[in-house]
Amino acid sequence: MSENVLKKIAHLKRSTWLPQVEEGDGDLADSKFAGKPWLNKGEQWPKCPLCSKPIQFFLQLNLETLPEETRGRVGTGILQMFYCLNCEPDCCEVLADAWEPFAKSELIQVIQPKEQAEVIEIPEFRNPFPPKRIVGWKQEDDYPDYDDLTDMGVKLELEEFGFIEDDYPRQGDKLGGYPFWVQSPEYPNCPVCQKRMELVFQIDSEKNLPNMWGDMGVGHITQCPDHKTQLAFGWACH
Ligand SMILES: [Zn+2]
Ligand SMILES: [Zn+2]
Repeated sequence: MSENVLKKIAHLKRSTWLPQVEEGDGDLADSKFAGKPWLNKGEQWPKCPLCSKPIQFFLQLNLETLPEETRGRVGTGILQMFYCLNCEPDCCEVLADAWEPFAKSELIQVIQPKEQAEVIEIPEFRNPFPPKRIVGWKQEDDYPDYDDLTDMGVKLELEEFGFIEDDYPRQGDKLGGYPFWVQSPEYPNCPVCQKRMELVFQIDSEKNLPNMWGDMGVGHITQCPDHKTQLAFGWACH
């Protein structure tokens, strides 16, 4: 049954890439979860503008080493995501806005590495993450969720979608593909041109990072297709 449904939406098939990881930090410029980010010589570990404490480092993608199909799409340089767990609400109902894209307690940026890096110790965090180096990418097929399909003008019966919903969109950490929305689609709009931002990377709860977004939520790094420096991170949970 699922094959019939996938045939109907075959034109929307996208590739997604699952990070293959090894324990340990690797080089400063490597793609990685946690560990030490690349900081250009003279720079300091970024601080959270809300609480002024060092902001926790989640993810770094060296854009030159991504799978060929995605290389260049996100831009060039090194993409970094920092997110302040000090300013994180314990529950979705309190302290609004940490999960919203463009929250002040997050820093998503693409930097251009200069010749020399600054090497500094990792600050102490309440919940330190063991570093994992991304050593490869496993390609998989991906398809949109029900609401995204509807927005794209594809009308599936809920029963039909039921045949594929356990598999698509893919859960877990992944590069590209379609977002797995815990609630409903929440694409941010680019602050410059208002265009809908697109998924760059999905960070699930308790996968490569021992971190839970609320109650088993899922987070998404998104980017404006035209303004590569406009990046956001948002998450939602049950
Ligand atoms: Zn903070
Ligand atoms: Zn834009």
